[in-house]
Amino acid sequence: MFPDPCEFPVKHTPLLAIESGGIENYDLWKNIFSQIAPDIQTIWWEAAENSPAPPDYLLVSRPPVGKIAHFPRVKAILCTGAGVDHLVSDPAWPRDIPLVRMGGQRTAQLMAEYVLWACLTLYRGARTWAWQQERRIFEREIITCVASEVPVGIMGFGHLGRKVAKTLLDNNFPVLGWSRRGTPLEGVEVFSGNTQLKDFLAKTHILINLLPNTQETRDKIDKDVLSALPLGACIVNVGRGNQLVEEDLLQLLNAGHLSGAVLDVFRHEPLAQNSPLWGHPKITISPHAASEASRYDHARYIVDVIETLEKCGEPELLYDWKRGY
Ligand code: NDP
Repeated sequence: MFPDPCEFPVKHTPLLAIESGGIENYDLWKNIFSQIAPDIQTIWWEAAENSPAPPDYLLVSRPPVGKIAHFPRVKAILCTGAGVDHLVSDPAWPRDIPLVRMGGQRTAQLMAEYVLWACLTLYRGARTWAWQQERRIFEREIITCVASEVPVGIMGFGHLGRKVAKTLLDNNFPVLGWSRRGTPLEGVEVFSGNTQLKDFLAKTHILINLLPNTQETRDKIDKDVLSALPLGACIVNVGRGNQLVEEDLLQLLNAGHLSGAVLDVFRHEPLAQNSPLWGHPKITISPHAASEASRYDHARYIVDVIETLEKCGEPELLYDWKRGY
């Protein structure tokens, strides 16, 4: 299991080695940390590898495969992304060091606002307006339903999914949640596991994907799942691109079973120029931009995590190797 952080002597100036963003962004990080947490010292991670004083923490985004194994003594590794699937696939990744995912209120708030916008866009038919505007067509199909008549189902009801649910509830949407364990949330009908998936889908008019990237969730949203949604349903994909089978989505949109999609993540990013998703009249595309807080917000969150660890506490968003997320 993880080493007890209190086995380490508590230092007043923890040393944070930074890989995230590359050398070109190191000074930006350094300046922010010196402003908001002067007690935390920073060092460029490659300089830290052979330094006589080993770093206490590592901040990473996309380190080269095999390199993090060179830091066996850090107390924790922090990632500037909420998804860490690209890190844990490194065969040399040091599994005994706690790995903390990016969080923070602003990351969750940004995601909640993106999903709220996507739901409003979908049920009001805003993609059609954009399509017509490009062609100078002034025709209208009146939409008379209101949010309270549009049930939204959130697949992946964790840190982000629950914040999204609260925001949708505050805006009158009926909300359903689906997760592995089915942890309840007031005001939400929660379903769990594959046995309850079809019941969840049958009641969902807008499906939000917020699952993490694991073996079980890859290709999860396929023809079977999409066809189990009611006629005219829509989907918002903000989880990972490889969870949605794009060919199946296109087939169900073209057949009229689904009426719209908002896609933020893709199997291959950047999305290929010749992808049929680009010009589809029922698809709205954003460039993996749903929730990316500022460097300053990330730094604030990192300081909170380091303070928690220095006090021997357990940060909320610890990666769990057994669950795979
Ligand atoms: P969490 O780990 O907090 O939540 C994951 C949720 O998925 C949990 O509810 C979990 O169930 C559920 N889950 C996991 N595996 C399964 C399964 N096999 N079947 C059913 N439910 C499952 O993750 P976050 O909410 O922090 O983030 C979710 C994802 O959002 C990230 O992994 C990332 O891919 C994506 N993301 C996208 C961004 C963007 O800009 N587009 C930005 C940030 C994140 P349980 O509650 O039972 O554990």
